[in-house]
Amino acid sequence: MELRGTKAPMYVNILKLDTFLCKHLKGDSFNGLWPLARNWKEKMDVGLPSRDRTGVPDFVLLEDYKSTSAFVENLKKRFTSNLIYTYIGEVLISVNPYKQLGIYTSKYLALYRNVNFYELPPHVFAIADQAYRSMRTEGRDQCVLISGESGAGKTEASKKILQYIAANSTHSKEIESVKTRLLNSNPILESFGNAKTNRNDNSSRFGKYMDIQFNYKGAPIGGQIINFLLEKSRVCTQARGNRNFHIFYQLLKGCDKELLKKLKLSRDTDSFFYLNQGQCPEVESLDDEEEYKNTRDALNVCDFSEREQECLWTIVSATLHLGNIGFKQDEQKHAKIKDDKHVAAVAALLECPEDMLRHGLVNRVIHVDGDEVVKPFNKERAIYARDGVAKGIYDRMFTWIVQKLNKSLTNEHEENMSVIGLLDIYGFEIFEYNSFEQFCINYCNEKLQQIFIQLTLKSEQDEYMNEGIEWEPIRYFNNKVICDLIESKPVGIISIMDEECLRPGEPTDETFLDKMSHTIGTHPHYIGHTSKADYYTRKTMRRDQFRLLHYAGEVTYSVKGFLDKNNDQLNRTLKEALTKSKNLIISQCFKPEEITSKKRPETAATQFKTSLANLMEILLDKQPSYVRCVKPNEEKSSKTFDERLVRHQVKYLGLMENLRVRRAGFAYRRPYKAFLARYKCLCPSTWPSYAGVARDGVHLLIKHLEWDEDDYRLGKTKLFIRWPKTLFAAEDALHSK
Ligand code: ADP
Ligand code: MG
Repeated sequence: MELRGTKAPMYVNILKLDTFLCKHLKGDSFNGLWPLARNWKEKMDVGLPSRDRTGVPDFVLLEDYKSTSAFVENLKKRFTSNLIYTYIGEVLISVNPYKQLGIYTSKYLALYRNVNFYELPPHVFAIADQAYRSMRTEGRDQCVLISGESGAGKTEASKKILQYIAANSTHSKEIESVKTRLLNSNPILESFGNAKTNRNDNSSRFGKYMDIQFNYKGAPIGGQIINFLLEKSRVCTQARGNRNFHIFYQLLKGCDKELLKKLKLSRDTDSFFYLNQGQCPEVESLDDEEEYKNTRDALNVCDFSEREQECLWTIVSATLHLGNIGFKQDEQKHAKIKDDKHVAAVAALLECPEDMLRHGLVNRVIHVDGDEVVKPFNKERAIYARDGVAKGIYDRMFTWIVQKLNKSLTNEHEENMSVIGLLDIYGFEIFEYNSFEQFCINYCNEKLQQIFIQLTLKSEQDEYMNEGIEWEPIRYFNNKVICDLIESKPVGIISIMDEECLRPGEPTDETFLDKMSHTIGTHPHYIGHTSKADYYTRKTMRRDQFRLLHYAGEVTYSVKGFLDKNNDQLNRTLKEALTKSKNLIISQCFKPEEITSKKRPETAATQFKTSLANLMEILLDKQPSYVRCVKPNEEKSSKTFDERLVRHQVKYLGLMENLRVRRAGFAYRRPYKAFLARYKCLCPSTWPSYAGVARDGVHLLIKHLEWDEDDYRLGKTKLFIRWPKTLFAAEDALHSK
């Protein structure tokens, strides 16, 4: 198809390479392309489909940049042409292809190495390369923020970045060992922290931030991981089509007979209550037996000793036995343990006092005026206590694993260290039923959106300033007001919740809801039953619900379970039993001080708030890059592009706002030299060569082209162009020459 005569952007070469890739690359065959890639400028001039079919590689080149439909249409064109990456300026949008495209091979790794961002088609390797090079040349710490909803491709993207850095940084024996450990930390965390959900067979159920540390030569010398909020409720309950964390199935399927016996387990996953609720023990895309081997290998690589590994299996197994402890109830509604065998197994495995465990599962001991009073549980509360232990030990074990990994990874000797951080964290969640977990996740996304706005605006502003161009203020929605509604003191949602949790008497989820109505009921982003919202809005809410107007849209939360989840307390007797454990890991996770300390432990929401605040601090002093992941459909299919679904994500990810900010001033910018090299033939004074400085050459060129004064600015090192059409016209001229 003809490109000449159409409004072809300067990106035309990239575009051609882009479409070429999709046309000629089947699977892994890169061979024909390699010489092209090195010399793409000369060799790309082959007849190829126009951008009408494959869309623009950078959204700033969309003429109708305010239209969400045009945005989605562009993504669709590209997705159907196997072009999963598109930029908004320097932000990368990635659409999950749900198939192997052969674009992560060693040849691609080499292709993107040391190449300027705009010279090759959009790719996650370009982001990795840019971050790595900026770190090296500017000496500034970097971070890559990866966001998107579950199944959109975040974890894959973060692995690709790590892969790129491992492949394209210097080599030596010592460094290789660091790289191997960095790469092996992933399968460990995934085995213990990922699970099959309806949206993703390998869904990360925790947030993760990982620093890769480099020495002054740019060689990776270590790493550090911070984990956020593991979805521990999954240990005890799984909805239909969901599984528990992978490790349970791996252990049952993969361990040898001897270990199986020692752990008092059987291979039958259906016989465990904590594994059979989702009714899907097997996942087609996962080989649990094989994965068990991989996990063990990775544990060995990352310095987990035999003994430590054995302790891990013991805890995993004890968790399963806990789930099989059943209860009955007598006439007074007092719970009684049904299955002694499982309690005995838990006590033996965790090496903690059985009688204490037994007592704690069905009774609460409270202290009244120095006396101990025993209050028996009913069956429901006993189950709650049992699940509390299971969640508690699993969650703390997970954190222990992260700490252990950090011991193996973190480099504490190097003084002149730089880092690249990778943030792979849950995206905005809006379900039919939203609870405490969604509240925390969405709060996290509000915070991330806030620094996104702050940092993008700031980097735009910085660039204008560095280039000596006048900054034109941009209007944007600042979501600080929502962050404040959630986290401020004393009238933010979290502090109201904490206050309710601590209040003597009988606080319940309902009293918490009422309290919110009284204190923040009139807040413009809160809708409760007493809010002044219109009748229709209130009518669509149930009595136990409240609604928040997040930046990404409205979410209705059910308040049920908020206080329990926030309190997150194990009963004292059970905790005491665990502090007496001889299991190497459990004894590190449950310290006796916890029992003796008079200080009340922090609530779950407050802990989360603190860890987010730390994260923000870490991110704010780094130079950020962004990967925004989009899921094309709910069926994990490589063929369907569900426009409605994508439209929602474009909204939640704030992409239109992002594009608006990027387009608000000057849409397009290029270093003088690159610009001159391409367009010099359009002006007699610069053709065939220009002897002076590039900036002057470009100035002459522009004068000759009679550009309107307002359509461009001459910065210190770059030319800024306000409208894509100006550039398209230059392209036209180039092609009609
Ligand atoms: P998230 O972390 O956002 O929940 P994942 O990164 O786990 O999502 O991706 C879900 C699944 O989608 C992966 O297991 C993989 O099968 C597929 N996938 C994601 N990104 C890619 C990609 N770039 N190429 C091929 N398949 C991908
Ligand atoms: Mg993930």
